Amino acid sequence: MLDLFSEEKDDDYKPTITETELSDDEVLVELKKIKEELKDKVVVLGHHYQQDDVIEFADITGDSLQLAREAAKLDKEYIIFCGVHFMAETADMLTKPSVKVILPDLKAGCSMADMARRSEIDRAWNFITKSTKKKVVPVTYINCAASLKAFVGDNGGSICTSSNAEKVISWALTQGEKLLFFPDQHLGRNTCFKMGILLSDMVIYNPNMLNGGVTAEQIDNAKVILWYGFCSVHQGFTKDQVFAIKKKDPEIQVIVHPECPFDVVQAADDAGSTSYIIEKIEKSAAGSKFAVGTEINLVNRLATQFPDKTIVSLSPYQCLCTTMYRVRPRWLLASFRAIKDNMPINVISVPADIASSSMKALDRMLAIK
Ligand code: SF4
Repeated sequence: MLDLFSEEKDDDYKPTITETELSDDEVLVELKKIKEELKDKVVVLGHHYQQDDVIEFADITGDSLQLAREAAKLDKEYIIFCGVHFMAETADMLTKPSVKVILPDLKAGCSMADMARRSEIDRAWNFITKSTKKKVVPVTYINCAASLKAFVGDNGGSICTSSNAEKVISWALTQGEKLLFFPDQHLGRNTCFKMGILLSDMVIYNPNMLNGGVTAEQIDNAKVILWYGFCSVHQGFTKDQVFAIKKKDPEIQVIVHPECPFDVVQAADDAGSTSYIIEKIEKSAAGSKFAVGTEINLVNRLATQFPDKTIVSLSPYQCLCTTMYRVRPRWLLASFRAIKDNMPINVISVPADIASSSMKALDRMLAIK
């Protein structure tokens, strides 16, 4: 886990709940009670990829942008954010200073976000800007640490989400001649290709190789420089899975997240953000059939919510986000108990200078229509 900002805790205070103290079922009973008791103080946000036992306790559910927007409107003393660390950081930056944002498990990171460190971005920027005289505009996917959002804010760029990536990239290419997109290569490539940019105008910068594995000439010739990162969940889908499921049932519609590899998105019938996928399934007629290429907790929940439609995972394997899965009801209960004891744990607090630079990038994103 990288660049995670959390407040110092009293090491003597450990409100962990062992399995010998409470069984999984007892945890759920205790959670119901304490949530009711603290309802005036605490609001629970739950990302769509959380497990059902956690979502059951969420007051608001959504994708990362929806939850960040909701967090900004909240006026409770505490937000318990059932998601991963970059989401809790974003919520902390968007909420009033009096609101404390808590991540139930500090190890709930995001493997994609962890693929771009601030020191690596600084080194890449140095190489890229020395390699070309053309203006490069940095855009980061919201799935990154606050220190990267701050980099983008300080260098004239913007943040994007999977819902608005096309608009933000179009804006960036009016601000300069080249785009540096991080950390997810697939969202960058899929979006740029959809906008008409040729694959041959894109290069990959791999931070694990000398000078990113590219020459200064390649940087100078490219329109888009894609960071090497990817989501370990969405990277697992394959075009062969699309062909296999279509062969079995030609009527099934394959819809995937744009964090999936390029050939999967090209083979699918449709691609879009988590909110787009949910909306498309919600609005479809009874009897519709979907094979969905995204995280399994969301796919299973949609299948339960819409029993009149066929909704299956595109992959025969469990496409589970293991970092999201770290947030267990047991840790949610521990967070509630700590609040009750006035000893909140796992409070995410982004330093003021990082928050202020990041907000420049967030504000630019919100201003892009
Ligand atoms: S699904 Fe992928 S991008 Fe989303 S939190 Fe998990 S690892 Fe990160």
